[in-house]
Amino acid sequence: MQNKTINKDISCMDDFDPESLLPDEALAKIFESISAITETESLPIRDALNRVLATDINSEINVPSGRNSAMDGYAINAKDLPKDGVTTLSLIGSSFAGRPFNKSLNTGECVRIMTGAIMPSGSDTVVIQENVNVSGDQISIGNDTKPGDNVRQAGEDLAIGDLVLEKGMRLTPADIGLLASLGFANVDVIRRLKVAFFSTGDELRSVGEVLEDGMIYDSNRYTLYGMLSRLGVDITDMGVVKDDRQLMDEAFKEAAGHVDVLITSGGVSVGEADYVKETLIKHGNVNFWKVAMKPGRPLTFGKLNSTYFFGLPGNPVSVMVTFYQFVQPALRMLSGEKKTNPVIVKVPCISKLKKRPGRVEYQRGVLEQDTAGRMVVRKTGAQGSGILRSMADADCFIILPIDSEDISPGDLVDVQPFNGLI
Ligand code: AMP
Ligand code: MG
Repeated sequence: MQNKTINKDISCMDDFDPESLLPDEALAKIFESISAITETESLPIRDALNRVLATDINSEINVPSGRNSAMDGYAINAKDLPKDGVTTLSLIGSSFAGRPFNKSLNTGECVRIMTGAIMPSGSDTVVIQENVNVSGDQISIGNDTKPGDNVRQAGEDLAIGDLVLEKGMRLTPADIGLLASLGFANVDVIRRLKVAFFSTGDELRSVGEVLEDGMIYDSNRYTLYGMLSRLGVDITDMGVVKDDRQLMDEAFKEAAGHVDVLITSGGVSVGEADYVKETLIKHGNVNFWKVAMKPGRPLTFGKLNSTYFFGLPGNPVSVMVTFYQFVQPALRMLSGEKKTNPVIVKVPCISKLKKRPGRVEYQRGVLEQDTAGRMVVRKTGAQGSGILRSMADADCFIILPIDSEDISPGDLVDVQPFNGLI
């Protein structure tokens, strides 16, 4: 996201609006007014995947727990390594992973050892099997091994007490594997956020219903469902609420105080009946912002009782852009996740992009490789805020700063990959 101050010299031919907030300013105001939930639950580690860790995790064991072999080969004592030429050693047994050799090794002796097997006492070095000639109970080794080679020391990966995972991390497959390697069966995580949403509009029909003249299918509840599912929150879909004072009032009352977050789409653009605003003001403490961004200029944020409220614009692309830029970071913070800065990289753009100064634009793009294997970005088709296809075809936002003008092929642009957005 851009954090430039608005350039007051920009010509009046642009979209500049002195009353608008920059996207970064809107996000900062949101962050200032929310505090993370703190209730936790203990879960089996598999169920904790994708959940936010509620405590630091310190190792209670050494990993590996004992000295063991990193390779298949022969455990020896380094004193038996030849300075030059070849030495012959007697093979006195074997040590397998889970089935150790329980006796000691004397000078001139060796033990067949497999990867992960405990090093017999008296041994400190493993000669890999490729460097050994075996003849009956005798092996001969050259001088290609150094003392201590191919041995993993106890606690080498993690020692007792080491900080392994930090509170506020969202657990990945590697993290739950790590927890398992340390013997943790359960882990404390922050409870799931409860999020409800509804769409507003007399023109909206749900899938499965007949589409009469002038009606459209409601897609926002599906994109919201998808984006929220990936965040692992508890979802309540409240359906479509008609543009009707009474119904709207009831819907807000039903959600306020009962969920952590309520998200609506539509009904906040200029020209919408004022009662949406009235209803919100009646039920809580809500801000109506104009954000200097495209798409997604109108944004409503505040609180209805204990419930945080986001009123997103109605256009399908605006919903997704404002969700990813504001709602997702806020939900992640509310869930106790440490603030994660979005990944933004500079990449050459191979398309011509139209852009007027005055608003930060979130155009939709696809990352690809050019013939030299370098990463470049191309815009997806038509970029209208109602054209969901431009999102469906995309795998990143191309973020153009507030005072940027048209982009020519080859110009460097800021790209925010969707996979960094969860
Ligand atoms: P509004 O902010 O209610 O004026 O909506 C702006 C535009 O987005 C209008 O063209 C609406 O028909 C459209 N729109 C609003 N809500 C939805 C929705 N849930 N699904 C698809 N389009 C919508
Ligand atoms: Mg509407």
